[in-house]
Amino acid sequence: MAAESDTVGADTINGRYKAAAVAAAAAISLSPRLRSPLDLQPFLLPPTPPLVTTLPPAISCSYIGEGSANAVFCVTPKKKNLSKSSSKSSAPGSHNIPSNDSDAGSLSTHLLRIPKAGPGVGAGTCLDHHAYYSSVLRPLIGTEWLVGQHLVQGIISRGVQSTLNDLLENLDRSGRRRPDWVGTRISPDVDVALLVEDMTLACNKSLHPSTTTTVQFKPKWLVQSPSAPAGARRCRTCALSAASASPSTSSSTKGNGRKNSNGPKTTQGRSSSGPEKSHKIKPCPIVLVADPPKTAAEEADLDAALWEYVYQHLGSAVSSQSSSPNSSTPLSPSTTFLLLKTRPAIIRWMRTTNLFRRIAAIQAEHDPHGALAVDLADDVTSLDRLQTAMTLRDCTCFLRVTVSESSSEVSISAKLGDLDRKDGRRKLARWQAQERALLDGGFYLCTEEPRQQTNCWFERRRGH
Ligand SMILES: [Zn+2]
Repeated sequence: MAAESDTVGADTINGRYKAAAVAAAAAISLSPRLRSPLDLQPFLLPPTPPLVTTLPPAISCSYIGEGSANAVFCVTPKKKNLSKSSSKSSAPGSHNIPSNDSDAGSLSTHLLRIPKAGPGVGAGTCLDHHAYYSSVLRPLIGTEWLVGQHLVQGIISRGVQSTLNDLLENLDRSGRRRPDWVGTRISPDVDVALLVEDMTLACNKSLHPSTTTTVQFKPKWLVQSPSAPAGARRCRTCALSAASASPSTSSSTKGNGRKNSNGPKTTQGRSSSGPEKSHKIKPCPIVLVADPPKTAAEEADLDAALWEYVYQHLGSAVSSQSSSPNSSTPLSPSTTFLLLKTRPAIIRWMRTTNLFRRIAAIQAEHDPHGALAVDLADDVTSLDRLQTAMTLRDCTCFLRVTVSESSSEVSISAKLGDLDRKDGRRKLARWQAQERALLDGGFYLCTEEPRQQTNCWFERRRGH
C-alpha cells in the first residue's frame, strides 16, 4: 500500500488522501483473529482515489444545522436563467453566489458538511475523515449501513467560505444559534469538504411523492462498559445520564452534547449545558439490542419500550411535508400522524434489524477492557481500537420512514452518520475521567446521592 501511495504526489488531493487512508487503515490494526458471533470479519481495503467533485461556480446556500465540530448547509446549483429576484435568492437564511454556470451533480441529494474552525482543524481534515470512513468504517460496518459521502472542493476557491460565514453571522444576529456556538465560523483553511447523503430530504422535499419522515438518534453505548462494576443496574448511557443530572458531579460527566452533524438538527434556542438544562429522562439504548422476548408479556413490554425510544426522539423528526427543515419543535401534525400510523412497522423493523447488534459487536470488539485500561504511552493499538469504539458510540442513526401515497406501503431504512474518528490522543484523559466519575459516584449501581431517576432497560429487567 505504501508503494501505491507513492504513485501520487503528496501535495495533491489524491496523494494526501492515500497517505491518510494508509495511516487510518494501519492505525486501526484490525486483527483477523477477532471474530464476533455476527461474523464481523474486518478487512482492509486498499486506498483508492476518492471521488472529488468541484462545487459549481453558481450556487445558493442555506443553513441546515450544526454540531460543535461541523456545520451543514444545503447547496443548490443556480439555473442559468434564474433571475436575481427568484424566490430562492430572496429566501431568508439563504445566500446566492452569482455566476454563469452550474452542474447539479449530487447536490440535489447531498448536504455540504464542513468543519468549523477549532483545534486540529486544517486543510486535510476532511481528507482524513474520508480516509477513515473509506478504509476502516466502510469495510467494518458495510456500505449499506453508512450515510454516503464524498469529497468536494471549492470552499475557498469558489468563494463559498465567506458566504457560509455570512449565513452563520446572520443567524448569530437573529439569536437563532445555540449560545455556546455563537461566533463560531467555518474553518478558514478548508477548501475540501464533504458532501453527505441528505437523509432528511432537507434540500429537495418537493421531489419526493411519498410521505417521508426521518428520525435521528444516537444509539450510544449498546453494550455495557467493560469498566462497569458487577451488579450494575444501569448501562453506561443511563449511568452518564444520571451523572449529568446529578447536582454533585463534576464537569467531566457534563456537557455530553452533540458534537457533529450530518443533517438537520434543531439548534435554535437550545441552551448550553448547565444548571438550566432540563432533567428529562433520556431513553435507554439497550432496548435496541434487547434479548428476544419469551412470553407475550415480555413481547408487549419490549414493543412498548421500543416505541418509547422512538417517541422520545420524535423531536428530531423532519418530515418531507414540513414547511421548514429546522422546524422540528413542535412536531407537525402530519409527521405525528405518519409516525403513529407506521408504529407497528417501525417496531417490527427495530426488533428484526441486524444494525444495532452489529454496532454493539463492533463496540465490544474494539473496546474489550475499557478506557481506564488504555495507556497513552505504550498502548497505541488499544487506543486506536478504542477510538473506533468511541466513534461508534457517538454516531447518529438516521431512521427514514416512507409511506407510499399510492399503496400505503411502509418502507423503513436506516443509515449511520456523524462518523468522524474520535481523536483518542486528545480525548483519552477525558474518557478516563468520565469513567472514573461514574464509578466513584455510584452511577452504575444507582447508589448516588441524591438518587437520580432513569429508565434503564437493565433496571426494568430487574423489576425496578
Ligand atoms: Zn440504560
